[in-house]
Amino acid sequence: MDKVLIVEDSKLFGQLLSRRVADDFHAGCVVKTTYQETVALLEEDADQFLLAVLDLNLPDAADGEIVDYVISKGIPAVVVTARLNEETRRQILGKRVLDYIMKGPHTLDLLSSTISRYLRNQDITVLLVDDSGLVRENTRKILETQHFTVVEAGDGIAAMEQLKADPSIQLVLTDYHMPQMDGFELTAEIRKSFPMDKLLIIGMSAQGDPLLSAQFLKRGANDFINKPYFEEELVWRVNQNVEILHHLNQLRNAAIKDSLTGLYNRRYFFQAGGKLFENARRRNLDLCIAMIDIDHFKNINDSYGHACGDQVLVDVAKTLLDSFRESDIVARLGGEEFVVMTSNMDKAHCRDHFEEIREKIEENLIIADGYTIQATVSIGVNTLLEETLDAMVRQADGLLYQAKESGRNCVIID
Ligand code: GH3
Ligand code: MG
Ligand code: MG
Repeated sequence: MDKVLIVEDSKLFGQLLSRRVADDFHAGCVVKTTYQETVALLEEDADQFLLAVLDLNLPDAADGEIVDYVISKGIPAVVVTARLNEETRRQILGKRVLDYIMKGPHTLDLLSSTISRYLRNQDITVLLVDDSGLVRENTRKILETQHFTVVEAGDGIAAMEQLKADPSIQLVLTDYHMPQMDGFELTAEIRKSFPMDKLLIIGMSAQGDPLLSAQFLKRGANDFINKPYFEEELVWRVNQNVEILHHLNQLRNAAIKDSLTGLYNRRYFFQAGGKLFENARRRNLDLCIAMIDIDHFKNINDSYGHACGDQVLVDVAKTLLDSFRESDIVARLGGEEFVVMTSNMDKAHCRDHFEEIREKIEENLIIADGYTIQATVSIGVNTLLEETLDAMVRQADGLLYQAKESGRNCVIID
């Protein structure tokens, strides 16, 4: 992570903020205590900062000028303030800050969760569905300040098309009254293919009819917001729902993924792979199973230490993952052994592809703990459709054994 800029005239509080940010995000912090010092720093180099935490009132800029200045330099800002009345609140929100936090016993915790949220939101796309371009524009600005990627649709039919084309969409924010397909129909339509724990829907409407919210929820929306809304309510509800989805994903992932490499685990491989296998057999499709094992991995652990060994596992896993499509399965079976299942790749293509992967791993020098480590892998690839998935894996394992026997760092395919 890049650096975090902290501008705070109390030296002690500045230190507390900086220590917490450093602990939680392993980010370097630069602390400044005045407006002038900050200007001198940012005129020199503003690009090094990912984010700024700003005291609203500084001795040489008592009226929040620091916020305008830092934002004008393209740095997103979180404001920390000791006084908060309606006037200050409006003043702060007008500046498009990421969040504002009251000084108090929970400031550090709140700041930490604001930063986590900001980092997480950058991977999330929100689909905004409203027939009014003006409403879309206003809502877009608010969500973009929260670091979401925003895409738009003018009605339900366009929304469905966008949704099917863009798997990064995790939240749909939809109006009720729209031409062609209204918010209710859209919600019901979305739920036919996307469950509540995979895709969020928040309904919105200006109608003032209390039944609307209940109707949205009954059709499968996760939440509802009345228009006109307060910016904080929209931001809070969106972030809260995203947070819940995030926790659900974490739970799901803990059950099916390996925590070191992030690849699928053995259990998931046999579960999801079993379905792919049955489908391939039924339709007589090309299916390939490859077993991949790091060569002399024990030596890597012995020479450089277990932590370096772990880094090698992570790097090899990443190369594997980057080399296959979403529809393929890449898993860590255990230790330094990986398995890949691909469909629709014929034998000749498989041979070239795994040979390329073998070369890529050999050429990729891994830096860990100050060492430069070269790892190689042996690969056994089975392209013959057997009676069972177990038999296919066993067959691939036999070919891997042959690859080890023939001197390692090679691919054996049948
Ligand atoms: P070969 O070329 O025949 O595959 O030799 P090898 O040394 O790679 O194979 P062996 O099975 O003898 O050793 C595997 C080693 O991997 C032993 C084990 O301690 C280590 N290992 C297993 N899981 C992990 C892990 O999660 N992290 C690290 N750092 N090492 C691991
Ligand atoms: Mg090995
Ligand atoms: Mg082994």
